[in-house]
Amino acid sequence: MSNLFENAVPLARGQTLSDQATEALRRNVMNGDWPVGSMLPSEVVLSQKMNVSRSVIREAVSRLKAEGLLASQQGRGAFVASNRPRMGFAINARDVDNRRKLTQILELRLGIEIEAAAIAARRRSDEDLERIDAAVEAFAAVQKFGPEQVRAGVDADLQFHRAICDATKNDYYLGFFNYLGASLRETIEAGRNRSVERGGDSREAAEEHRAVAEAITAQDSLAARKLMRKHLELSSARLLGHLWNSGGRE
Ligand SMILES: [Zn+2]
Repeated sequence: MSNLFENAVPLARGQTLSDQATEALRRNVMNGDWPVGSMLPSEVVLSQKMNVSRSVIREAVSRLKAEGLLASQQGRGAFVASNRPRMGFAINARDVDNRRKLTQILELRLGIEIEAAAIAARRRSDEDLERIDAAVEAFAAVQKFGPEQVRAGVDADLQFHRAICDATKNDYYLGFFNYLGASLRETIEAGRNRSVERGGDSREAAEEHRAVAEAITAQDSLAARKLMRKHLELSSARLLGHLWNSGGRE
């Protein structure tokens, strides 16, 4: 476990040293470098290796205890209690403000929604198609308007993606999407606001939605998968561009 900060990136907005130390320790537990049952190096050793104060280490350790990953042994320091966080899967609300983490969350979204589109193409009912088409039209309709329509546009976008997850008839897809959607909503809205400020619109995204919906209607799983991948990859790139390439072109 030499040099915990080897692969570290510069501190992200709002990320404290404790946040970063917590993340580094958590990764050692999650990836198995520190197996369940093993003792952690002492506070002194960790603070030297990570080049942070002992109080930063103490804070990180106590946070991971709260998550159930670490526990204390009387007089012997901390050990790894579990590699499964007690709170289950979670996206920290601040993670979406961090470019690297947001990129990872969007990447996770690819895995879920690309396959959801393929499954939806096989299982969709007429009712599903009505809902998907209604969301396609609602999203396309708000492109012509100004910033006040941003919220409606984001609603319609999420409605489209939710309708596809719903059409899988697999509630885990829907539940996971609802979680992701709630985590990403404000970020997507911020991205669209920036885009609209610069005179951009979402016509491309509207066309991408339409193409995905057509593939699902045609029960073409392969095309649905391919087109959803294209849409999500392009919209991720657009979102990251709007949020971080200030002054850049649309
Ligand atoms: Zn979309």
